[in-house]
Amino acid sequence: MPELPEVETVAQGLRRRALGRRIVAVEVHHDSIIAGSAEEFVSTLTGRKLTNVSRKGKAIAVELTADDGSELRFLLVRLGMTGQLTVTPHDAPIESHTHVFMTLDDGREELRFRDARRFGRLRSLTSAELEKVLGALGPDAQRVSEAQFMASMRNRKGAIKSWLMNQNLVAGLGNIYADEALFEARIHPLSQPGRVSADKAHQLYKAVRKVLDRAVRLGGTTFSDYMDIEGRPGAFLSKLRVYQHTGEPCRRCGHAIRRMVIGGRSSHFCAQCQPRPRATAKMRGPKKSVRSGVRGKLKEE
Ligand SMILES: [Zn+2]
Repeated sequence: MPELPEVETVAQGLRRRALGRRIVAVEVHHDSIIAGSAEEFVSTLTGRKLTNVSRKGKAIAVELTADDGSELRFLLVRLGMTGQLTVTPHDAPIESHTHVFMTLDDGREELRFRDARRFGRLRSLTSAELEKVLGALGPDAQRVSEAQFMASMRNRKGAIKSWLMNQNLVAGLGNIYADEALFEARIHPLSQPGRVSADKAHQLYKAVRKVLDRAVRLGGTTFSDYMDIEGRPGAFLSKLRVYQHTGEPCRRCGHAIRRMVIGGRSSHFCAQCQPRPRATAKMRGPKKSVRSGVRGKLKEE
């Protein structure tokens, strides 16, 4: 599933390949991809020029300007699980699950949105609507200040893994980069954010930035569907240290990487480098009550 580095790579690709170009026609083949009315989507986008591309968390906002000086519109892109946004020659074969076509300029190229699982969404918004949508997200994980990051951890219960993935607190991290950042900072995924020392919190803040920056430089991670604007996979897969490396030796200490389900999602970590905090270690006993506030079933493999 695309996370911040993959979405940032698509945003950079849009700037490179589509900025300054005009959408001359829009075709929607599957209405469920469009949030709101598909007719309104088509009528509000057609004829406008792409004048800016920004990103917050996993959302891309493309600013669309009309020649007649009418109010700005924004195309909000969410890739969901398997969404792909590409700039493609008009005469290129149409792959299955291609749901939306936006013809550019003279019609020789088009933006195509393909999405096998159909969790991705495209939406046309006014600037006030966009502000509301983006305002609901926490600060972007690549731009959050250390003070904001620390303040958000304070007094917070539950697993730090779930905290890292909560888009309303810090936006952009999903399962892959949350696991990688916790490994980098040597923090167990079940640690409580509010009980992590200031020093460890500082290390986590730096780890999040480091992991994201490196992944962006390599164009993100591709397991199956993710592609950049030119249809190329990301190259960060080989750099992953723990994510989906269950049973393999830790690159730091040689102990086997373990997998644990937290809040319904797999977490990968090294129990040696990321020791379990004492408060949650109690949960290992026969007692069924989960005192750390971690929701969902905990299952260690
Ligand atoms: Zn280790």
